[in-house]
This record gives sequence, structure tokens and C-alpha cells, in this order.
Amino acid sequence: RVVSAAPSSPNEEAIERALRPKLLDEYVGQEKIRDQLEIFISAARKRQEALDHVLLFGPPGLGKTTLAHIIAREMGVNLRQTSGPVLERPGDLAALLTNLEPNDVLFIDEIHRLSPVVEEILYPALEDYQIDIMIGEGPAARSVKLDLQPFTLVGATTRAGMLTNPLRDRFGIVARLEFYNAEELSRIVMRSAALLNAPIHEDGAREVANRSRGTPRIANRLLRRVRDYAEVKGNGDITKDIADRALAMLDVDRVGFDLMDRKLLEAVLHKFSGGPVGIGNLAAAIGEEADTIEDVLEPFLIQQGYLQRTPRGRIATPLAYRHFGLAAPRINPT
Ligand code: ADP
Repeated sequence: RVVSAAPSSPNEEAIERALRPKLLDEYVGQEKIRDQLEIFISAARKRQEALDHVLLFGPPGLGKTTLAHIIAREMGVNLRQTSGPVLERPGDLAALLTNLEPNDVLFIDEIHRLSPVVEEILYPALEDYQIDIMIGEGPAARSVKLDLQPFTLVGATTRAGMLTNPLRDRFGIVARLEFYNAEELSRIVMRSAALLNAPIHEDGAREVANRSRGTPRIANRLLRRVRDYAEVKGNGDITKDIADRALAMLDVDRVGFDLMDRKLLEAVLHKFSGGPVGIGNLAAAIGEEADTIEDVLEPFLIQQGYLQRTPRGRIATPLAYRHFGLAAPRINPT
């Protein structure tokens, strides 16, 4: 298993695109940002202006890319998509920016991974719809100012804290995407099942929802595996019982933890006596990148109350002890 919440194959990406809601009304949950966007988009449309720049942050699979596409569609403009690590040279970004049509959306995923020189040319672009580019080399080099069409940058990042302050300050709309609750995920699963022509019972959808780590991408992925199971082991109907058996086979436990989640929690509990343990040591112990732990694994464990982040490191909560049938220590080691 690589990063659980990232699309893992081209085929998977195609399915994901097909399941993506296209309009704000079809986008489940995230009410705060949805309400805000509805107002800001409608105001910008009335004035025929570009929407303010939008920064979306939160763990992978919660709907940042989907929202960027929805914004473009609701604004009635094109969307250009790229990502921080892809933009190697200032010229790469300049080429994208100068090709935008009025009020277009430029979506930059993993915006925290922009190189400083590329980020530098983004500032005047965001502020004044202008860029300064260098033409030529050596003593003949000169800087030229280019005017851009008004545009909206939608930036996505897993952690807002990884953005430089000057960049973060240039976004007028900043939203943190939250994990989805079971009811919202059930709705997403029911909708996806209908699009996939998979017969599903409401309690079957609920079972998938409960075990999806609060994440639509995982819910959609588990739904497809459960559908396979239902077709082979049953008559195709996704019932609660079928979902339960399929998910057990996939090593997704009752609360939605997969092997990596359990490995991480068990490492904290057993190898580090419940913590505190620093992120570097934890990463080494479970053979996972520190970034993956911080971006993908631990946000859900923390949100669900199994893990706590303290200045001295991560500690397992009493809930984590109970999950593994252990007695919690009486005195908290911190
Ligand atoms: P991110 O960019 O945050 O990693 P995506 O926007 O790619 O996440 O979403 C992953 C998948 O989850 C998409 O296929 C999309 O269909 C689904 N999804 C995400 N958010 C929602 C939502 N609010 N309602 C319905 N489906 C969603």
C-alpha cells in the first residue's frame, strides 16, 4: 500500500473523475466553505470579475480538486491544472499565466511545494495581475513587465502551515476542509453507487461510510471493492453483511483503520510505551515517510481521538489502548 488516500492508477483516476460532483449543490458536506463560495461566486459573477484567490487545505481525498473544478464551472470559466513540484522554472508558470483567459481558474495542487523562484513571480501575478520576467542572459538580460488577464488562483495543500506567510496572505478566501461524518459519507456512497449502477442498501452504504476514515476518496474506493465482493460472493446487492465481510477481507477494521493505521498506533503503544515519540522515530519504526504520517495517517487518528500531538511528540490516548484491548496506564506519562 502506498499513500492510502491518493489515487493509485490511471484507471482509478478516470473513475474518480466520473464520480466527481460538478456543481456546488451536488457537493456533500463542508457547509461553511460551500455557503461562502456560493455568495462569493455569485457576487463575482454579477460584477463580471474574477473570484478572489482561494486556498484549500486539508488531508488528501477530502475534495479539494473537486472544489476547484466546481468553482470554475460555477464561474463559467476554464480551469487550468498544475501542481507545485511540476512547475520547475519561473517560465513554466509564466507560460500558464499568460495563456489564461479573463477570470479563468488556475488550480495549483501541492502549492506548498512551489520552488521559491517560482513563488516569487506568483506574488505580483496574484496582487496586480502582472508578472516580471527576465529576458536574455548575462549583461544583456532585462526584466519585462507583462499584464495578465484577471484570474483566480485556487491553491491546495495538505497543511496550511507549510505555506510561506507572503503566499498565504495573498489568498482572500482560505478554507480548511474537514473530515466527513458518517451521514455525509453515506450520501456520497449512495450517490456513487447509483452512478456505478451498483444496487446498494442504505445500511450497506452506512457500513462503507463508517469505515472510510472520514474521506470521500476512500469511501468511493471501498465501495468499488465491496461491489466486486457482492458480485462474486453474493447476488450483487450491497447489504450491510456483504459490506462487513468485504471490508474485513480488506483488513479495514470496525472503525475504519487499515493496516498502516494499526501499525502506527501499535508502534506508539508497544515500541514507545504509549509515547511521547517524535515524528522521526515513529517514521523509522514503521518504515513510512514522516510527511506521509503527518499528511495522511495521523490527522484522522488525531481527529478521532486515538492519538495526541504534544510538544514532546505523539502519545496514544486511552481510546487507543482500548482499541487494542489494552489497559490504559493510570498516570498519563506527560
Ligand atoms: P483532494 O483533491 O482533496 O485530494 P478530490 O477532490 O480529488 O480530493 O476528491 C477525491 C474523490 O472524492 C473524488 O472522486 C470525488 O468524487 C470525491 N469527493 C470529494 N469530496 C466530495 C464531496 N464533498 N461530495 C461528493 N464527493 C466528493
